[in-house]
Amino acid sequence: MTPVDILFQQLKEVVYKYNPEVNWPLVEKAYHFAAQAHKDQRRRSGEPYIVHPVHAAMNLAKLNMDSSAICAGLLHDVLEDTDVSSEDLRREFGDDVTYLVEGVSKLEEVKFTKKNQYIENLRKMFIATAKDIRVLLIRLCDRLHNVQTLEFLPTKEQKRIAQETLEIYAPIAHRLQLGALKGQLEDWSFKYIDPKEYERLLDIIQTNFKERQQSLRMVKDTIKQMMHDNHIEVIDMKDRIKNVYSLHKKLERYDNELSSIYDIVALRVVVPSIADCYAGLGIVHSTYKPLKGRIKDYIARPKPNGYQSLHTTVLLNNGDFLEIQFRTPKMHEQAEFGIAAHWQYKEGDQYPRRQKEIQWIKELAGILKDIETNNDLESVKIESFSNRIFTLTPKGDVIELPENSTAIDFAYSIHTDLGDKIIKAKINGEIKNVDTILQNGDVVEVIIDKNKKGPDIKWIDKVQTQIAKSKIQQAHRRKLFSWGKDLKNVKAN
Ligand code: MN
Repeated sequence: MTPVDILFQQLKEVVYKYNPEVNWPLVEKAYHFAAQAHKDQRRRSGEPYIVHPVHAAMNLAKLNMDSSAICAGLLHDVLEDTDVSSEDLRREFGDDVTYLVEGVSKLEEVKFTKKNQYIENLRKMFIATAKDIRVLLIRLCDRLHNVQTLEFLPTKEQKRIAQETLEIYAPIAHRLQLGALKGQLEDWSFKYIDPKEYERLLDIIQTNFKERQQSLRMVKDTIKQMMHDNHIEVIDMKDRIKNVYSLHKKLERYDNELSSIYDIVALRVVVPSIADCYAGLGIVHSTYKPLKGRIKDYIARPKPNGYQSLHTTVLLNNGDFLEIQFRTPKMHEQAEFGIAAHWQYKEGDQYPRRQKEIQWIKELAGILKDIETNNDLESVKIESFSNRIFTLTPKGDVIELPENSTAIDFAYSIHTDLGDKIIKAKINGEIKNVDTILQNGDVVEVIIDKNKKGPDIKWIDKVQTQIAKSKIQQAHRRKLFSWGKDLKNVKAN
């Protein structure tokens, strides 16, 4: 077996662990197909190219993604970099896999050009992937392996890719609450942006962690015992170490004062229910004195990206401080997998997928709004998202509209003829009037009357888009004009 085959075997083990129903023959076929297609290509590291897609697929498996996404991860570069066509893919792997690979290939690379284009790029990227979040997840997993192998690239390229990852991909992962993925994207990039600082902070973190091993063990035992005495089940208890880039950002906020950072190492306690979280907090405080102002109730007030947990910092018997976090299994899953948690697949079910598409597109608007108002991104506003909505055609194409747009705007955004001839709209399956105001995530089907002469002038007050306004005015002017001509004709007679 080659090293890549061994890696592929590891992939199999990882996937079977969370998805015993995986369509493994299809995944295996994708692997051989991709290996064959890339057979004459090598990575900069000198390794056969197929190493890269297998790593991307492995990253997807760590998000517990379904068979199609794993296959698409293996095949994600064949359309761009080899002779393989979409038809080939469709014939061999079916529509779902092909759709994903096409999506990843089409997904216009979000180029890091100027900082003030950030939001605009992000918007394009979101719209391009709005129909199926898996496309975006594949892109992120692809990018992770690319930053993990930056050492083989020229310095200038390293910096560019690292910068782009830090500025665009990591914040997306953060917003989607893909905790682990975000941390890795950040640290691998930061290593190339500021190597000295990276090494310095890594050393601080590792030293801190080593020094605290013994006291951590004792605290864990004590907490376990106390929880047991109070009949609260501890489902899981683990240390978590802060990632390098988060520490860097936090130090910036705290004037580089290391002593004011208490959560380089934290203890995470998973308990069955929300009530247990609060009870656990009380129990811990009865033994360890909490630090003033350090109790953070992210259960009652989740972070903007949806993160939930109950945090406290306590004083240990040896004089050290330790942050302790309580959460339920659901909060834990959400923090680890984020949006992917909603998308963990039951193989083959189609209807819920449609629901997920709609749910995702609704979230999309919220995410964009969030990003826009997030000050620590220091991004310049280009266009306001706050008043944009995203709607879908029955085929799933995304139509972006201003808030309060109606089905008339929707129709004109697709084609003048549709706007001119619209008589009703089917919105999420229900027949509605054309002036119905659309909401985020609405699926809209335009119903036309082929013989309809043109738009109603009264619609002018029912539309938001410039295109609809000008088309309605044009049609009205045309009508007046021909009416005028008719009058002249009458006179002449
Ligand atoms: Mn790739």
